[in-house]
Amino acid sequence: MNVTNPSGPTNPDSNGPTFDIDRLRVKPGRPVRLADHDTRATPGWDPKNKDGGKERLKQQNKITEELQELLWANGRERILVVLQAMDAGGKDGTIRHVFEGVNPTGVKVVSFKKPSEKELAHDYLWRIHKHVPGDGELVIFNRSHYEDVLVVRVENLVPPARWRKRYDHIIDFEQMLADEGTTIIKLLLHISKEEQRQRLQDRLDEPDKNWKFDPGDLVPRSKWDQYQEAFEELLSRTSTEDAPWYIIPADRKWYRNIAASEILIQTLQGLNMTYPAPAAGIEGIEIPE
Ligand code: AMP
Ligand code: MG
Repeated sequence: MNVTNPSGPTNPDSNGPTFDIDRLRVKPGRPVRLADHDTRATPGWDPKNKDGGKERLKQQNKITEELQELLWANGRERILVVLQAMDAGGKDGTIRHVFEGVNPTGVKVVSFKKPSEKELAHDYLWRIHKHVPGDGELVIFNRSHYEDVLVVRVENLVPPARWRKRYDHIIDFEQMLADEGTTIIKLLLHISKEEQRQRLQDRLDEPDKNWKFDPGDLVPRSKWDQYQEAFEELLSRTSTEDAPWYIIPADRKWYRNIAASEILIQTLQGLNMTYPAPAAGIEGIEIPE
């Protein structure tokens, strides 16, 4: 390990940024229309250069590995990555590819399913808060408190008067985490309805993917437009300076991976972490035989 502060050169042929992640970031207060975001786009990357993209991801994975070790060694920063998408949007695949090779110590994936009875007997942030990262940790939320303004809204699981207030709670909750030292990035993997159809069909047609098929996924699919609307409102309202949303065009898996990876890398690099100073008086020590 020879990287002390991998802020990186800007030469795209070496360890520098793949592209400016700002182009995927939702600017606070700007209304989002998802129809304006092409799910097959590859902003900052040549769409024909899929092989280069896959090669690039390998380089990025090495950088991520180094940065996560630095995060752990430095022990002062807390990183929260929130992943949301429609079913088959690629949340699991993104986690697998972006964190390939990362030392599992200090990294945790938390998947939020339908709340249990006990969870439902508390406020909706109760089960979330327990899992936020501590010092040196990186936590990935596979689904999150945003389900409480998505499925809950579309399926009418609580009255509108209740879920409508949640955008403000969420903004305040995330701001509190940020003020107390957590760096937050929120990624929407944006796929088209047709791409979802193909991926769900593949799960039916390919025997080794059958296990992934959940007939229950057809319900949200049948309410596609209502979900898109719910996404639009949360993107428009909850992207803040300290807890920004990024919309990642996700029909092309290889682009989705390099984009998610690049957002993570540039965010971690922006923290300018350093290794802790070595213990006093270690120079010249010889380990006895
Ligand atoms: P999966 O991620 O495919 O394992 O599915 C998890 C399921 O749990 C999805 O259908 C989510 O919509 C659902 N879910 C997650 N959080 C909530 C919530 N707060 N309320 C209701 N359903 C939820
Ligand atoms: Mg599912």
